[in-house]
Amino acid sequence: VERELLKLKDLPAQSLDGHRIHLKGNIEFVEEVSAINKHGGEGIGLYRTEMLFFNRASFPDEEEQYQAYAAIVQAMAPRPVTIRTLDVGGDKCVTDPCLTDEMNPALGVRAIRLSLRQPKAFKAQLRAILRASALGPVQLFFPMVSGVAEVRQAKALLEEAKAELRGKHPFDEAIQVGIMIEIPAAVVIADLLAAEVDFFSIGTNDLIQYTLAIDRTNEHLSSLYEPLHPAVLRSLKQVVDAAHRAGIKAHICGEMAGDPEYLPFLLGMGFDELSMNPVSIPRVKKILRRCTMAEAKQVADRMVTFATAAEADSYLKSEIAARF
Ligand code: PEP
Ligand code: MG
Repeated sequence: VERELLKLKDLPAQSLDGHRIHLKGNIEFVEEVSAINKHGGEGIGLYRTEMLFFNRASFPDEEEQYQAYAAIVQAMAPRPVTIRTLDVGGDKCVTDPCLTDEMNPALGVRAIRLSLRQPKAFKAQLRAILRASALGPVQLFFPMVSGVAEVRQAKALLEEAKAELRGKHPFDEAIQVGIMIEIPAAVVIADLLAAEVDFFSIGTNDLIQYTLAIDRTNEHLSSLYEPLHPAVLRSLKQVVDAAHRAGIKAHICGEMAGDPEYLPFLLGMGFDELSMNPVSIPRVKKILRRCTMAEAKQVADRMVTFATAAEADSYLKSEIAARF
């Protein structure tokens, strides 16, 4: 089966009737680039930079970060790398005085909130990412965005970082900037956010957690952690529609992107890119290549009509079994 799937590696990621989307890999370490190539991924849709920051007394400086980002960009080139700025806090712990004693870490000083409180450290990361953009195609995006003010602040710091590099280091002046959509507020104001950025990438892992108020790490609640909950499905649809109305791209980089059963409705909703664990790419591509866009749209339209996750799930199972 595995060998059968790997034969799909060099075939295009497109539907039966030629609608092309991008299938990419999520990684944390440079060693994982080979898994993306082996499984036919078209680049990195989510590079989680957190690993560089864990288990140490102080944050890595610009140079150390640059070395790490450069290695990944060079290993992946000429294919693109989407680098996410630091996303710690909540379930991702890091030793930092800012993060001690929070009553609700998932709702605390984390991700972009932490970066905006530490502009010097944040700009060091932005300069390192910018410098890596001279070595191959790089996009950058910010995690846990809840509003437009945060995006504008982050972009202003990015402009400062660019100014600090000019004349000293080359970088891509036109680097594309995106945000994660993983907080329900961001879904509701997706139209306003779309005016500020070049792309959205939905983090379904956190979006499900925050939409349903279900701790993603709490095993006692795992049966209530429902990707097919109507609120989640409507959110996905709202976000992709808002992105396309504004003329920007909509991606998914949460776990939902890597589930082949979900591919027909994600395709039908119109997502431009799905980024996943590299081993999932061939399974998702296999279903993609069997769908027509018309069928996928039909499935997507039905998926937002169900009252419960269980109904959506049984429809999807019968549909997948019958058609793909
Ligand atoms: C997500 O929240 O879906 C996501 C991709 O980011 P992480 O799992 O790193 O929080
Ligand atoms: Mg997340």
